[in-house]
Amino acid sequence: MDTNLLLNIAQQYGCPVYVYDGNTIENQFQRLQDAFKQVKKLKINYAAKALTNISVLKLLKKKGSGLDTVSIQEVLLGLEAGFSPDDIMFTPNGVSLEEIEEAVQLGVHINIDNLSILEQFGAKHPNIPVCVRINPHVMAGGNSNISVGHIDSKFGISVHQTPHILRIIENTKMKVNGIHMHTGSDILDIEVFLYASEILFETAKQFKNLDFIDFGSGFKVPYKEGDLETDIEELGEKLTVRFNEFCKEYGKDLTLVFEPGKFLVSQAGYFLAKVNVVKQTTSTVFSGGRFWI
Ligand SMILES: *Cc1c(COP(=O)(O)O)cnc(C)c1O
Repeated sequence: MDTNLLLNIAQQYGCPVYVYDGNTIENQFQRLQDAFKQVKKLKINYAAKALTNISVLKLLKKKGSGLDTVSIQEVLLGLEAGFSPDDIMFTPNGVSLEEIEEAVQLGVHINIDNLSILEQFGAKHPNIPVCVRINPHVMAGGNSNISVGHIDSKFGISVHQTPHILRIIENTKMKVNGIHMHTGSDILDIEVFLYASEILFETAKQFKNLDFIDFGSGFKVPYKEGDLETDIEELGEKLTVRFNEFCKEYGKDLTLVFEPGKFLVSQAGYFLAKVNVVKQTTSTVFSGGRFWI
């Protein structure tokens, strides 16, 4: 963003102030859409936890985005920002059945990530379609704190427990209309992403009433100049081919869903603060990003 513009904003609004560049956000949204333009039905749900500023939510809504939420509070924020409940996905982790029912009351889509709640929910509400979060057990992501698809992860239902899921569906007659994965943040290697996607396709075959497959997110973003980032365009080319093949095999044009957070907003933010004093003492000299003592 232009430095003069930032200075003007600082002068007009005072410091400290957060500034978000709407153009950057819109461009990233467009970039992802373009990368997957050969997919018939694409849905991008912005992962609200990356930045819940209400103006940013409204901007993304205007661009045609849906919303991925992980708490009731985020759901309420999304509704406040004008998202239709139909465009909101609720992906909680380990919350009570009551909280999930609260989200159902609000009319949003539900993503369930454990067998216990799936069974309870299915028994009580067999007619409300749900998405199921699968853990494909792929070690992906920048570090172990943000890698959520590994074998010990608390997120998702193990892909090895798919027979259990199918049995619950059979017993409760509940409807599973989507399957989902989100294996971690900062995934640079698209081969890892594609590998996890293959596991999801294999799993998807076993579900008869899908409307969508949600590939989550985790795209690596640059944190500083020169940093590497996920090659979204290459991922788009490769995953599109496999997704379209899969739809043919499945016999239906499913919706391909992504839920990017950082990818859309991480390069759009500025924090402006005023420096009051620059002080040099005899003991430390701050020089070129290093402290010399
Ligand atoms: C955090 C999160 C995302 C977004 O991850 P990014 O790395 O910011 O793109 C998407 N889906 C779920 C379920 C999440 O928890």
